[in-house]
Amino acid sequence: MVGALIESYAGPMARVIVIGAGAGGMAAAARLRVKGHDVTLLEQGERYGGKLARYERDGFVFDTGPSLLTLPAVYRDLFLKTGGPLEDAVDIQPLDTAFSYRFSDDTSLELPGTDPGRIAQAMGEQLGGTAAHDWRDLMARAADVWRITRQPFIQSPLDGAGTLLRLGLTTHPSAVRAVAPFTTLRRLGQHHLRDPRQVQILDRYATYQGSDPRRAPAALMTVPYVEQAFGAWHLGGGLATLADALAARCRERGVDMRLGVDVRRITTNSAGVTGVETADGERMAADIVVANTDAEHLYASMVDDPRGRKPLRTLRRATPSLAGFVLMLAVRGRTPGLRHHNVWFPSNYDAEFDAIFDGRPVDDPTIYVCSPDDPRMRPDSDHESWFVLVNAPRHGPIDWDAIRESYADHVLEVMARRGFDVRDRLLWREIRTPADLERGVRTPGGSIYGTSSNGIRAAFLRPANISPVPGLYLVGGSSHPGGGLPLVGISAEIVADSIGRARPSPSA
Ligand SMILES: Cc1cc2nc3c(=O)[nH]c(=O)nc-3n(C[C@H](O)[C@H](O)[C@H](O)COP(=O)(O)OP(=O)(O)OC[C@H]3O[C@@H](n4cnc5c(N)ncnc54)[C@H](O)[C@@H]3O)c2cc1C
Repeated sequence: MVGALIESYAGPMARVIVIGAGAGGMAAAARLRVKGHDVTLLEQGERYGGKLARYERDGFVFDTGPSLLTLPAVYRDLFLKTGGPLEDAVDIQPLDTAFSYRFSDDTSLELPGTDPGRIAQAMGEQLGGTAAHDWRDLMARAADVWRITRQPFIQSPLDGAGTLLRLGLTTHPSAVRAVAPFTTLRRLGQHHLRDPRQVQILDRYATYQGSDPRRAPAALMTVPYVEQAFGAWHLGGGLATLADALAARCRERGVDMRLGVDVRRITTNSAGVTGVETADGERMAADIVVANTDAEHLYASMVDDPRGRKPLRTLRRATPSLAGFVLMLAVRGRTPGLRHHNVWFPSNYDAEFDAIFDGRPVDDPTIYVCSPDDPRMRPDSDHESWFVLVNAPRHGPIDWDAIRESYADHVLEVMARRGFDVRDRLLWREIRTPADLERGVRTPGGSIYGTSSNGIRAAFLRPANISPVPGLYLVGGSSHPGGGLPLVGISAEIVADSIGRARPSPSA
């Protein structure tokens, strides 16, 4: 998909070390291996996938990270180019009723999974008024913005003024009008959507980039557009099956994969990277290092090279992304009206963002429940697995270890107030706080997406995939183009294409 990139590395086979086996690390490793490089993947944890993970107990199966796959073309491309179709590797299923929303005035809305036109129609039928017309209008504009930004920005390496030029934002007034670079997502919503419930739905998409809709750019209108135009997808058995498939693909291609290897430092000399050093003191030589670690941690603690200071300074100007508080509930019986993805909004959405970005747990949060009607994810048809996610401030400003149980009780209480009291049907609950995520996958504060998109320049503050330290590349949600499985997959494509194909050896 990153067609316009020039392969900058056309040298002999490189020794590549990928640090971290998240979706981005594995996607980059598989792509680089088929480009002819010698690839070693080092993961500090005891399993592959990073945030893309599952929890299983007594026949209940939960995705503990991503629960919604969008823009599957990114992974279709990856799997095809590394050996075989995605459809042979995972059980990809379109969702017909994708989302069920419930608002504080007790009205609700059920939306199909694909097609902005159908979705607009469903909004019109259920919300009435101008809802269908307004949503159609907004999605038409979002389609334009996607067309303007996809290739020159999202699928290309960040390159300062060059990126702006490619976007046409310095030359084409119509592009500027569509993208509205100085408008926030909230303002865009208020401009296009007369029904405040639709504004709330649009606002929620800012959180898919860990952001506050009152500060995130209007360009995030592309997030619902992509979801609706290219579909909302489930993977049979859970999204973590994608992690299994990525690990299998890397293995089949001959990536040297090692678990339990904690990389402490990236070693450099004046020419660029020379390798890595592990926590056990082992030194491993490399021509190229691809870091799937958190970008701030990378530049602050792993690269002791003056060329890494500038990206660190830039990064520190961005607001960190929000985190998430997760409850996994083993529920007895079936719940009428429960869909695959359920969102129950509070009356005061702004109070939620105020609390999160002030570093306070949210008192009356939006509740998201994912309960797939998937026989592989529950013990039998008389039980349900509920993955409950509440947006939360990062670990650090507050101590999540201290309040994990009391906040879990609170979330169950809020769910009961919203009409979904499962406390007397609960077999057990399992909690994952931002502190757990920080410890598990080394994401500072348990942030879901690295830095947020808060602020008009945020997209340009994210670290570039090609580091100023020669031979160092960044892949994953804390670097360009951002978090979420599709963007992370695109970052792997940018990195692999930037490194390029190894020149066949003369004897080959
Ligand atoms: C609760 C939650 C819900 C989400 N929901 C969705 C969703 O519905 N849809 C969606 O598309 N996205 C969702 N996301 C975001 C998505 O999970 C991430 O954007 C994506 O999985 C991140 O992949 P990554 O490649 O950046 O790496 P990560 O998953 O962050 O993995 C990085 C890996 O590097 C390893 N590592 C770190 N430091 C070192 C070191 N020093 N040495 C060796 N290894 C190291 C870590 O252990 C980890 O395995 C969600 C995330 C969370 C947490």
